[in-house]
Amino acid sequence: MTERIVIVGGGTGGTVLANDLADRLGAAIDAGDVEVTLVNDDPDHVYKPVWLYVPFGQREPEDGRRRLRELVDDRIEVRIDRVTEIDTDAERLRYRDAAVPVDYDYLVLATGSTLAPETVPGLEAGGYDYYSESGAKALREELLSFTEGDLVLSVVGTPHMCPAAPLEFVFMADDWFRERGLRDEVDITYTYPIQRVHGNPHIAEWARPLMDERDISVETFFNAESVDPDGTITSMEGVDLDYDLLVSIPPHRGIDLIEKAGLGDDGWVDVDKHTLEAEAAENVYALGDTADTGVPNAGSVAHYQAGVVGQRIASEIRGRPATATYDGKTLCFIETGMDAASFVEFDYESPPSPAPPSEKLHWSKLAYNESYWLTARGLL
Ligand SMILES: Cc1cc2nc3c(=O)[nH]c(=O)nc-3n(C[C@H](O)[C@H](O)[C@H](O)COP(=O)(O)OP(=O)(O)OC[C@H]3O[C@@H](n4cnc5c(N)ncnc54)[C@H](O)[C@@H]3O)c2cc1C
Repeated sequence: MTERIVIVGGGTGGTVLANDLADRLGAAIDAGDVEVTLVNDDPDHVYKPVWLYVPFGQREPEDGRRRLRELVDDRIEVRIDRVTEIDTDAERLRYRDAAVPVDYDYLVLATGSTLAPETVPGLEAGGYDYYSESGAKALREELLSFTEGDLVLSVVGTPHMCPAAPLEFVFMADDWFRERGLRDEVDITYTYPIQRVHGNPHIAEWARPLMDERDISVETFFNAESVDPDGTITSMEGVDLDYDLLVSIPPHRGIDLIEKAGLGDDGWVDVDKHTLEAEAAENVYALGDTADTGVPNAGSVAHYQAGVVGQRIASEIRGRPATATYDGKTLCFIETGMDAASFVEFDYESPPSPAPPSEKLHWSKLAYNESYWLTARGLL
């Protein structure tokens, strides 16, 4: 009997996993004993880290897109469709574009994060973001014509993708305005929902003095409640901040069907943080942003987790115990300006210790972004 593996989501985690399984189970796939389907609701694979550079005119959104089919091993069936329903008791799911449901033996959810700006009144009308392709493009136009006034970067909700990206944005903006001789005309304020500037205390402790040195004002314990598009953002704590340009990191959620399938709240799948198996169902894994492991929502995390899930499923199919586990490994370059970056590496046991910012690390980040397409193919 053919074992059917369905991976939902052809972003970083799903694509790396599909190629990993093709590698591990190639002979079984060729023999017809295993079938792997990768379902994505977009014909393109999207590499989101490119969006950080779009507002500053350094990259185009198209630089972050490639045809998914071209990135994935030929032995994988790539289906451009949307999964609309999952029944984990019957081990069955529905596609938007198919009349009948399909059965699976293993299901992997790699459906990423969804933005939910509509949950904060006024945010969509009053703010810009670089957490979507359209947002990054619109912000680029706005930044180019912004020559004076108050720029507020507000992290509205956590968890969100790439916890370092809001820090990167204000550090880059500081440099960008400085290079253009406009920094004295532009005040930059950064808001964060808890009592420090980043969720991780070690990164917060490192970043805060850099922000002070750069004259970036900070409002911590600022939980945005509403936005008046005429130029005020108000927090639940009762603080009003006036702005001329608001850049927000909108609240994030997972996809609705995860909650409907009873796999977790707000679209995040409850998993064992080491095995990545869903807590509420058999033969279901989750990885990347959608897996609630407590580590950052980052592409590097999705990548490492894909290797673990690939190894576990391949072992189970071969009738051997699955022993691979995820140790929380996270890597992240953090831009500290237009031509310098830091780097952190940590896991469940070892906290991060940010490296001194350097030009070399900045170029390493850019080089990583270029080589990403090989990584997604499983070649690096
Ligand atoms: C501005 C920005 C900068 C970032 N910088 C970095 C960085 O420097 N380093 C880093 O490690 N990470 C970074 N990230 C985070 C990184 O992009 C994400 O954490 C990563 O993409 C998560 O991978 P994933 O596979 O979980 O989800 P995604 O890559 O988001 O893929 C999910 C896929 O699932 C599809 N999908 C969703 N629902 C369905 C459905 N029902 N049916 C079919 N398909 C579906 C989606 O369309 C999407 O293609 C950044 C993110 C942003 C926004």
